[in-house]
Amino acid sequence: MKTKVVIIGAGMVGASIAFHLTRLGEKDVFILEKSYVSSGSTGRCAGGIRQQWSTRNNVRLAMRSVEWFKRMKEDTGMDVEYKQGGYLILSFDEEEAEEFAENVKMQKEEGLEVEVLTPKQVKRRFPYVNVEGVKLATFCPTDGHANPHLANFAYIRRSVENGARLFTKTEVKEIDVSNGTVKGVWTNAGYIECEVVINAAGPWSKDIGEMVGIDLPTESYRHQILVTEPLENMMDPMIISFSGNFYIRQTRHGSFLMGQGDKDERPGINRKVTAKFLLEMVNKMSRRFPFLRNLRVIRQWSGEYNMSPDAQPIVGLSENVLGYFYAVGFSGHGFMVAPAVGEAIAEWIVFGKPKSVDVSQLSLERFKGKEFLKERSVV
Ligand code: FAD
Repeated sequence: MKTKVVIIGAGMVGASIAFHLTRLGEKDVFILEKSYVSSGSTGRCAGGIRQQWSTRNNVRLAMRSVEWFKRMKEDTGMDVEYKQGGYLILSFDEEEAEEFAENVKMQKEEGLEVEVLTPKQVKRRFPYVNVEGVKLATFCPTDGHANPHLANFAYIRRSVENGARLFTKTEVKEIDVSNGTVKGVWTNAGYIECEVVINAAGPWSKDIGEMVGIDLPTESYRHQILVTEPLENMMDPMIISFSGNFYIRQTRHGSFLMGQGDKDERPGINRKVTAKFLLEMVNKMSRRFPFLRNLRVIRQWSGEYNMSPDAQPIVGLSENVLGYFYAVGFSGHGFMVAPAVGEAIAEWIVFGKPKSVDVSQLSLERFKGKEFLKERSVV
């Protein structure tokens, strides 16, 4: 078989790249997925879409992505449960609260609508939050959330309708490079000749890097999440805290999704869930959101954050292997920036360079010996 572009991975990032490529008229696209659509991190994520970041890169990528989320229904014909209910970020730490003031200044310079709230203002606007210990909060009304499965399927479906071909249960085993140029890929179903290969393999990004001799500085870490039985809709924003280490949102059908980070996790793919997570979450969240006390947890699962050294995505075209792109290391926020990253990569392939959003600072080269700016706003 033969195609121009092979995308490895049918998660939100691969789906977005395929959507934008086919939208721009490049239909010679194969999406190769070793499992099924949304089986990776995307189908396990919380679906939060936030533009409040500490680095300009992430603010810009997220703001551009919001433009695409707003028109996703129109673009794909699917309702992906996108809701701009805002994001409320709570700080429990004086030093962090000072950083928030700096972040808000930069975010406003980027044109983002965002405000600083006192604990009293938080209580008045969001009475179901226990504000004990809160030093300060920020709120952006155009942040929000969507159903990650639906968004992933929406982009895949529209790509296929536009001419791309999706191959599930098709695992890329090796990449054929000769004279420093991509020639094709070997899969469990045979050889596919191609000119361009894109590593959109999420938690497995490092393995795909190794196939062309590129050592990607990415590592995957387990993150767990739980979901409660539903209540009537009452919580519009997604509410998170870096110093408090939690996030929570209410889905359209009423369930609450919530999670936290665990600094004791070791790198690797580990899909087991733990009682420790369950107990910590239940105790912490029922103190912060007292109405949760009478709700039952119905399910718990785990997925991966594919982390980069500075918690910012690694996006670019290889300097050493012609035709090899990477869009990896999304560090827990790949769902929300996927629309803009996909757009940038598709423009790169079709026009020779990204036009709508500048991703030059996200290349792998930034890690070569220089100091790099770490994104701090990560749970
Ligand atoms: P994936 O969705 O993992 O897709 C990669 C695909 O590549 C997989 O389907 C895999 O099977 C396939 N693949 C791998 N190797 C091969 C191979 N050799 N051949 C063929 N196919 C292959 N992000 C947000 O923006 N907002 C959130 O609120 C949020 N919450 C999160 C909560 C949790 C608990 C977790 C775990 C993550 C969260 N994230 C969130 C992060 C988000 O899930 C990821 O950044 C995003 O889904 C990455 O998308 P992806 O397409 O790169 O990876």
